[in-house]
Amino acid sequence: MGARTRTAGVVLGAAGLGAGAAAGLRGFAAHQARVRNGVVLAPPYVVGAAARELHARLDVVDLHADPLLWRRDLLRRSTSGHLDLPRLAEANVALQVFASVTQVPMGLNFERNDPRRDLITLLAIAQGWPPRTWTSRLERALYAAQRLHRFAERSAGALRVVRTGADVDAVLAARSRGARVVGGLLAIEGSHALDGRLENLEVLADAGFRMIGLQHFFDNEAGGSAHGVTQGGLTPFGRELVARIRSAGMLVDVAHSSPAVVGDVLRVAEGPVVVSHTGLRGTSDNERNLSDEHARAVAAGGGVIGIAMFAHAVGGPGVDDTARAMRYGADLVGVDHIALGTDFDGAITTSVDATGLPLLTESLLRHGFTEPEVAAVMGGNALRVLRAALP
Ligand SMILES: [Zn+2]
Repeated sequence: MGARTRTAGVVLGAAGLGAGAAAGLRGFAAHQARVRNGVVLAPPYVVGAAARELHARLDVVDLHADPLLWRRDLLRRSTSGHLDLPRLAEANVALQVFASVTQVPMGLNFERNDPRRDLITLLAIAQGWPPRTWTSRLERALYAAQRLHRFAERSAGALRVVRTGADVDAVLAARSRGARVVGGLLAIEGSHALDGRLENLEVLADAGFRMIGLQHFFDNEAGGSAHGVTQGGLTPFGRELVARIRSAGMLVDVAHSSPAVVGDVLRVAEGPVVVSHTGLRGTSDNERNLSDEHARAVAAGGGVIGIAMFAHAVGGPGVDDTARAMRYGADLVGVDHIALGTDFDGAITTSVDATGLPLLTESLLRHGFTEPEVAAVMGGNALRVLRAALP
């Protein structure tokens, strides 16, 4: 999730007036989902024959999207938001990471957030999430996992939740036989989903979560956010958490973490570090993005950097902006460490929805990537790191 939602406080104030009216709350939630996940260009998209043919041969991996935050049936094609199962299949996505957002400050901004007032509490109530989710961030994550598993159960095999390396291989094997299968991998966006208890890491792992972003938009028990107040590094709790993530069969993700946390994690983490959805300061110099030094350290540790598809990360909402950041990253740290992390449905505006991903393939070719390099960036690199980390 990566949005600027300046109007959130105003909208919430208005919704608060009618908090007793369920219809008003549902309208609020639907409005939030619609206005925050727009596209500049509506599908269908026109792609050249060479890029279309190449894209059809890829195993596309998207390291980050937030559709589980919104009240949508992901098995049905929608004109709202950025993705659903039919659109992922059309986009030839092999593996989609589905993140769980469990707390977001009202008055959200990129620079400095105060976490005391929580937007997700209102969204949980407005969207009819179970009452157990109203006061527990852990329960919000577990509910998100339950929703993805239920979508998979209803999908007749078209969506499979992947927990292990063997699960990933099975999805790829089915796809190579021509089956239209999408793998879904669960991720946490902000370790406050642990509700302050390290033991809950096992609870999340049991529920299927395989990647954990340490921070989101505010400083939490584990350390400072890039958008927080303290800009602090890992806390003792954060250090203990990072030490446990790998043995829990999960990957650590430092998207949204403060530069101090990123540096600390890169020093102490055993195994690859993921930056699931980000930009690079070399093309867009802001607090949201990864410095050259940290990008090099992620690569040196064998990790991957997922480049996002929204303006604040890459300088503009266009696929060319994302491709340009990928080109810069590949030139800086090597093509083997650059990946895709769209942030689709993360309360952002993108140029295209998921079905526009072939346009990114086309843009990568224009930016001088060879076909094997396009395959690596669009999925191969992420698959390598996931396979190595998953149980
Ligand atoms: Zn995010």
